[in-house]
Amino acid sequence: MPIANCKRCGRIFSQVRRNICPACIAEEDQACETVRAYLRKNRDATMTQVTEDTGVATEFIIDLIRDGRLILRNNPNLNYPCERCGNPTQAGRYCASCTKELSASLAAASAKLRIKMQQEKKRPGSVPKE
Ligand SMILES: [Zn+2]
Ligand SMILES: [Zn+2]
Repeated sequence: MPIANCKRCGRIFSQVRRNICPACIAEEDQACETVRAYLRKNRDATMTQVTEDTGVATEFIIDLIRDGRLILRNNPNLNYPCERCGNPTQAGRYCASCTKELSASLAAASAKLRIKMQQEKKRPGSVPKE
């Protein structure tokens, strides 16, 4: 079993699947649960309020949301900046408009790649002889 240093507390542990130790995983789960319970009761809370009232770090709350472990449904005031444009977002790494733009450019890129591959197939010599 691989031995690793916990990314969070630095303790050495045998790594199973995550880069943090079991004690930290338990702590994170606990913190996640605290934030969830808090948001159920305080739907209008902002990130600052959640951090102050629960004692859970903003970065960690953002990580939870990005990972999909914490899902915002009725919390209109809770958001964090999009990694691309800095506009407030409530899920994932990017805001809705960046997600749209990125998936459009991704689709364009893969379409281009498909065309390129088709052209290469047509080129004499590259067709596999059967
Ligand atoms: Zn740890
Ligand atoms: Zn954005």
